Amino acid sequence: MKDSVRALAAELKEFLCTREEDDLMPAAQKAAAHASAPYTAAAVPAAQDHLTIEFARTAQPAAAAPAPVQPLLQPPQPAPAKTATAPGPQTPQPPTEAAMNKSEKQVLLDQIASEIRACKRCPLGETRLNAVPGEGNPAAELMFIGEGPGFDEDHKGRPFIGRAGQLLDKMIAAMGLTREQVFIANIAKCHPMVNPANPEAHGNDRAPNAGEIAVCRKYIERQIAAISPKYIVALGGVAAKALISDTKSLGALRGKFHLLHLDSVELKVPVQILATYHPAALLRNPNWKKDAWADLQMVMAAMGLNRPQA
Ligand code: URA
Repeated sequence: MKDSVRALAAELKEFLCTREEDDLMPAAQKAAAHASAPYTAAAVPAAQDHLTIEFARTAQPAAAAPAPVQPLLQPPQPAPAKTATAPGPQTPQPPTEAAMNKSEKQVLLDQIASEIRACKRCPLGETRLNAVPGEGNPAAELMFIGEGPGFDEDHKGRPFIGRAGQLLDKMIAAMGLTREQVFIANIAKCHPMVNPANPEAHGNDRAPNAGEIAVCRKYIERQIAAISPKYIVALGGVAAKALISDTKSLGALRGKFHLLHLDSVELKVPVQILATYHPAALLRNPNWKKDAWADLQMVMAAMGLNRPQA
């Protein structure tokens, strides 16, 4: 095996073998999860076996590799050239987001981040320690979007840096990418707490509610428009339902690409979105990792990332 394949195999193995508990679960949920689905010695090897097979398949030399998984929606084709019309006086137009260069996108994202940090449009703005706008490559082809910051993110002002974030890092690495190459953000920009009076308490996290999502969604929509990614991975049911604007279960939404439509912004270039399990859910249910990996492989195939160099 070549070094690059070995490195990818190590990243994937690490992702597949992770079985820590989720920091973000309220204590009562943790107890319930333990009672109903304890980690058993049998469960983990089963997940590993499947994923070892999946990885071995991907790591084969290009000639023997299977045909890439086809997304249900094909990547957007360039629009046909429009018929020329009579030239008139031209007013210079500002570049659309898709046409902006990386530093112009960064300026716009910084502006959005400043607005988020000053935002008090919902009660979460009063109780957060830090707003968490998101971070990464302003010109990323791929965005990962979760539901909202937890304890660690609230304390540091950065997305996905707790245990769920460490697993997300492994998922990204298993795809052959780095955190710096993608953009990571959340639907809600401030920490939704069960007890907002105690931001220092662990196990105090909850999902953002519909009202909080409605107030906050203009920020993620503007970030998506600014970055103009080709693909988005929605992490978990809350992000998937909010972005795909569908009330179906995550199980019904995941495993295929959807064309993204935003409420407040018209996207100049189509964006395909795929939903998968939230890394926190994967920490609780490691046997879901094989399905999450299949989802990520769809994205890799669509992006042409699924063949490590032989
Ligand atoms: N869970 C999320 O959805 N987002 C984070 O940033 C951290 C945990």
